[in-house]
Amino acid sequence: MTFLSATLARVKPSPTIAVTTKAAEMKAAGKDVIGLGAGEPDFDTPENIRAAGIRAIEEGKTRYTAVDGVPELKQAICHKFARENGLTYDPSQVTVGTGGKQVLYNAFMATLNPGDEVIIPAPYWVSYPDMVLLAGGTPVVVPAGLETAFKITAEQLEAAITPKTKWFLFNSPSNPTGAGYSWDELKALTDVLMRHPHVWVLTDDMYEHLVFDGFEFCTPAQVEPGLYDRTLTVNGVSKAYAMTGWRIGYAAGPKELIGAIRKVQSQSTSNPCSISQYAAVEALTGPQDYLDGNKALFQRRRDLVVSMLNAAKGVTCPVPEGAFYVYPDISACIGKTSAGGTLIADDEAFATALLEETGVAVVFGAAFGLSPNFRVSYATSDAALEEACRRIQTFCDGLTES
Ligand code: PLP
Repeated sequence: MTFLSATLARVKPSPTIAVTTKAAEMKAAGKDVIGLGAGEPDFDTPENIRAAGIRAIEEGKTRYTAVDGVPELKQAICHKFARENGLTYDPSQVTVGTGGKQVLYNAFMATLNPGDEVIIPAPYWVSYPDMVLLAGGTPVVVPAGLETAFKITAEQLEAAITPKTKWFLFNSPSNPTGAGYSWDELKALTDVLMRHPHVWVLTDDMYEHLVFDGFEFCTPAQVEPGLYDRTLTVNGVSKAYAMTGWRIGYAAGPKELIGAIRKVQSQSTSNPCSISQYAAVEALTGPQDYLDGNKALFQRRRDLVVSMLNAAKGVTCPVPEGAFYVYPDISACIGKTSAGGTLIADDEAFATALLEETGVAVVFGAAFGLSPNFRVSYATSDAALEEACRRIQTFCDGLTES
């Protein structure tokens, strides 16, 4: 339709939301569907945080707030960065938005000019390239496959940098692979960035608290303090505190950049929900032992899913360091035919046939920029995971040479 903008024509709708919607439709039609597509914890927001939201309503904290967050929340975020990441920020260096998603989008809108490049390691979170395109920039995708445990190397980063590079977008632990960079692995990348002072770092630390086997999370400005003045550190309460629906994300970085992000937000959505902001204050300043319980739960599920998927014929599933996703490789399944008669030409065909023939909803790898794979979100009950993995095993057993 010519009425729509040329910018919009360059982007695609979120494939993860498409899968979740299709699975929900099949379920509504009475089909036996297990959804492994959604990227959110399967339990409720902790009681103390819910109570803080209710209190905010009852205390009349229901009006417009400062555009990019109330002082109490900015203060809580400064304490969080100091406590957990060894990073010192002043509240004037902090912005709060309607989810990490809005903060990322605002950052690109505030900084990208046509022709500006953003380096995005693949597999990537589905929204990154499209956000860059919406903001008029050019995504430069750097693939990192199974051989490097889905992590890019210093050489790859060096080779991707051009005079037009504006941002290096970093996400550890990653959606969709769960891969987490150790301090040394990240230092190798920050060493490269130190040689290219025109490149800024946008780090998406959304899965910071979901790390396993004693893995120690680290973030670029912490690993290389020399990058502090050109790093935007993005985080949020959605994943760590089971608060996806509250829509609170935040970032800290240089004051001028934060001001530019505020300007975008002031002319689009204004403040994030006032009630959610007070709930987020409780999340960040209240008891944190909840996070350890979460870690243990997700680690158990990860181990279950990894072992069951590796038992499926033609599937290779590495053990990720964090998040609540696995990203198995299905190279050995490509070119085969399913029991239902579908040619598995690529990972999209695999995911479609799997959903239609077994009722298990996963997201195909092409959506995340690296194929042939699929993403499983294991943020669902043990029973559902076991049943889903059993169905995947049966589906893979049924694949035959075409
Ligand atoms: N970044 C990553 C890597 C994500 O997976 C998500 C959500 O799926 C987000 C950011 C956005 O989270 P929210 O907007 O709920 O804060």
